[in-house]
Amino acid sequence: MHDNYGWSKGLKSLIRWFDTDHGNEDVAAIRAKPDKVEFLRVLPFLLLHLGVLGVLLTGWSWTAVAIALGLYFLRMFAITGFYHRYFSHKTFQTSRPAQFLFALLGATAVQRGPLWWSYQHRHHHRHSDEDEDVHSPTVRGFWWSHIGWITSARNFPTDYSQVRDLAKYPELVFLNRFDTVVPMLFAAGLFGLGHFLHVHYPGLGVTSWQLVVWGFFISTTILFHATSCINSMAHLLGRRRYDTGDNSRNSLILALITLGEGWHNNHHRYMNTVRQGFYWWEIDVSYYLLKVISWTGLIWNLKPVPLAAYEDTHPVREIRPFPTDHSNRA
Ligand SMILES: [Zn+2]
Ligand SMILES: [Zn+2]
Repeated sequence: MHDNYGWSKGLKSLIRWFDTDHGNEDVAAIRAKPDKVEFLRVLPFLLLHLGVLGVLLTGWSWTAVAIALGLYFLRMFAITGFYHRYFSHKTFQTSRPAQFLFALLGATAVQRGPLWWSYQHRHHHRHSDEDEDVHSPTVRGFWWSHIGWITSARNFPTDYSQVRDLAKYPELVFLNRFDTVVPMLFAAGLFGLGHFLHVHYPGLGVTSWQLVVWGFFISTTILFHATSCINSMAHLLGRRRYDTGDNSRNSLILALITLGEGWHNNHHRYMNTVRQGFYWWEIDVSYYLLKVISWTGLIWNLKPVPLAAYEDTHPVREIRPFPTDHSNRA
């Protein structure tokens, strides 16, 4: 009997790889459970990282490396420009077809659907570095905030009631529910492109599996860790301009690798502005790209940095980045 129960639970988890809303009717009850790392949720990460080792079999070529790099930047922009600044914070407006395209592009980053991503992220802003925060490095440690939290069963479902503004679009809900469809098509597309290059441009030294290893596995793994650094490192490394009550920080290094997300303290203070670098020296590539896109008319109404941001000179209360025990968190 006990075994049967275990199997059905395992089957349920497996079905959720493809239909993420399966068995998630009572999100509040799942959310109320204690954190628990679920093996079937660790497995996709294990496979993603193991896929990187495929390079030992496929080798490399300049074309494959260039495509991996290009896809890293394109998908990082999709995450910061669309998943974060559009879906999570609505810092600009766009049309319904463009919104779908942005969601599609964001889904190729293999960071689940736009509604799950926005729901978790809005929750982070509401409870930043408090006990309820699902990925606070100061409360739960570096590794939990970096990757552990995603493998916990209680953080798996999307609470659609918390993202009603997005849940009213069935096409977005579809992408969110079947969130492995786009990544699988993306990997298959790379396989096809690799085959095409192999047949028609043999001089490039590209093969279909080589392009899957570089364009999908290597590029996506690096993309995952760079994005996760905002959950982990951006609450540990850098300086604080604003007293936000949490431990968010501004870091040029993180801003460079994440196309502008490193100005995280700015962002926690003024989360509704499209720009995260508030001064010319705070490099924010995603903002520059969004500005250029706005000239084409595809997006509009980019919310500017409020004047108050430049007058906000409250002394910053230093928060210890590595508390020795929880009793310090008064
Ligand atoms: Zn944060
Ligand atoms: Zn945010």
